[in-house]
Amino acid sequence: MDIGNSHHALRLETAVSLVNALTGDNAGGEPAFLEPHEVGQLAGLASDLRAVIEALVGDDHDSAARTLNRLLVASHARPRLHRDGDEPWHLTFDPPDADFVQRWTAGLAVSFAAVLGDDSAQRLGLCAAPRCDRVFIDASQARSKRFCGVACQNRVKAAAYRKRGARQREERP
Ligand SMILES: [Zn+2]
Repeated sequence: MDIGNSHHALRLETAVSLVNALTGDNAGGEPAFLEPHEVGQLAGLASDLRAVIEALVGDDHDSAARTLNRLLVASHARPRLHRDGDEPWHLTFDPPDADFVQRWTAGLAVSFAAVLGDDSAQRLGLCAAPRCDRVFIDASQARSKRFCGVACQNRVKAAAYRKRGARQREERP
């Protein structure tokens, strides 16, 4: 993975935080990187990104690509070299006159588009616990992550344990 791609992979983490904060039945909290008044403006983008992640998790790359293309067009994303003061030039994709939503849409849609089909896109997941629809990135070596976090993992484990206990009690004469 080169430097460019790890940058895109980091953006996926931002997208996952945004999707979990703003969409789904478990939505809650404001991501630390947003001001409270900015959160509502990104609701549409967050639900589009959820659709992209769910499509990728379901191996529906056509649907993910269609949504991403729509976002890329809407954001007027185009490559451009930019520098702030004496900082080094770097590649950016938001149009110079972009508003807040366009900047976010351009940045995140470009990163998803750049890693489509790559390892980091394949690490996106949807929590397997009942009544949880949070998304996550599986950073584990074995790619064995099934739950968004320890809380869901423990909840499912405890339920399975209770079920097993009940069955054993029934089987006993
Ligand atoms: Zn979960």
